[in-house]
Formats: sequence, C-alpha cells, structure tokens
Amino acid sequence: MSKDTKAVGHEDGAATGRRLPQRRCVACGASDAKGSLVRFVRGKDGSIACDPSGRAKGRGAYLCAREECFGAAEKRARLGAALKCQLTGEDYQRLHGEFKAFCATQGQKV
Ligand SMILES: [Zn+2]
Repeated sequence: MSKDTKAVGHEDGAATGRRLPQRRCVACGASDAKGSLVRFVRGKDGSIACDPSGRAKGRGAYLCAREECFGAAEKRARLGAALKCQLTGEDYQRLHGEFKAFCATQGQKV
C-alpha cells in the first residue's frame, strides 16, 4: 500500500503581489525569476539531477543559466553545499552536461 500524499507546498510567504517567484543563484547570488534559473534537485535516493521542469520533489538549488555560474558553483562546491550532499567531480561532469543541454533549449526560446 503506498501513500500518495500530495505534499502541499509551502508558498513563499512574502509572495504577495509578485507575479513570478524569485530564486537565488547559489553561485553568484543574483535573484531572478524562477523560470530563468536552472534547478538542480536532490532526489530521495540522494542522487542529484538537473530539473528542467523545476517541479521535481526534493531539495533544490538554483543556478543562472550561465557557464560562469556553473563553473563557480563547481569550484566553490556551492551546489553540493546547497543540496547538503557531497558531489564528486564525476557528478559535476554529468550535471554540467545536463546543464548545457538545458541552456541550449533555453537559448532557443529567446
Ligand atoms: Zn548566477
């Protein structure tokens, strides 16, 4: 028997009057609309993945869709810190690939 309780998300308390939720890049600290940042999520099993939908369950961390920010996050281990886990070089390599793929799709929309 599996419980499929839908977690009622905590709305950002101070979001009154804001049209778009703002998120902060863990590398450079810039805030931007959620949609223009890349979300990374730590799943239940502890695996980290890029989350293009921005809606995957789990602890999330955001980065600007810029190479610089990914590079800075890797160099300073910001992504692992934000997701409260250890990321290896291999993890970063894999995530970088997903990150670049996501940025490419973003670019097409502009
Ligand atoms: Zn950034």
